[in-house]
Amino acid sequence: MPELPEVETLVRSLRRHLVGAALGRLWWSRLPLRLGRPPDLAAIRRVSAGGRVADVRRRGKYLVIELHAEPALPGSGQMQRAGAPVLVVHLGMSGRLQVVQAAAPRAPHTHLVWKLDGDRQLRFVDPRRFGWVGAARDLDLVPELAALGPDPLTELDPDQLVAALASSRAPIKVFLLDQRRVAGLGNIYVCEALFRAGVSPATPARRARPRAVALCRGIREALEQGISNRGTTLRDYVDADGSPGDNAGALLVYGREGNPCFACKSPIRRRVDAGRSTFFCPRCQR
Ligand SMILES: [Zn+2]
Repeated sequence: MPELPEVETLVRSLRRHLVGAALGRLWWSRLPLRLGRPPDLAAIRRVSAGGRVADVRRRGKYLVIELHAEPALPGSGQMQRAGAPVLVVHLGMSGRLQVVQAAAPRAPHTHLVWKLDGDRQLRFVDPRRFGWVGAARDLDLVPELAALGPDPLTELDPDQLVAALASSRAPIKVFLLDQRRVAGLGNIYVCEALFRAGVSPATPARRARPRAVALCRGIREALEQGISNRGTTLRDYVDADGSPGDNAGALLVYGREGNPCFACKSPIRRRVDAGRSTFFCPRCQR
């Protein structure tokens, strides 16, 4: 499942293709996406038809395509710029966004296609259909985004983390996976961050308060390494050009069950809770 580094990598590769491009006609596969619901085509069309892309950004694991606000009417003077209309995409388990030539064969499981200028298309492909695409007149009007916690790369700091940890009864691993607490982490990078911080995944969040500085640093380092390796590809993830990421070979604990810890040589352990694997070093993480 794509996490913050994969979405950030996709944002950067999409930005190169999309900024300045005009979005045209939209095609839909007629199949539902997340929660078995069809995308809100009317809203998506309203926002995207003819609009030019101003920027591509990320909020947590959501990708935001920001369009230029409609120009103010002549004679209205220097009106304050209204919020920019946005398309918002969550990749779910297996979603992909790619920019391709219009003539390129359409991959199986393609669900949305926008026409772009220059005889190109922006395609949303999602074999498992846990992804989501929405649209709004303004970023602040997207309820999915309003509920997100601080971004671990740009907003989270140790004081803020201490305050949030104090109000939780969950184990630290569950706490960090909760997008309302910290936006953008998933199973892989939480395992990596906890190893880097030397904190056991089972530690109650409240008792991890003295480790907040190490946690913030571990989270940031794990994510920055993921971004510099252009994401972790275990199965499906590719960027806007179809390239997989290189971070899988750089993971310290995730997927390394039975292999020696890079710090102390103890075998890395795996535990399964609620269908999710946790990888950790029983000696380095207390
Ligand atoms: Zn170790």
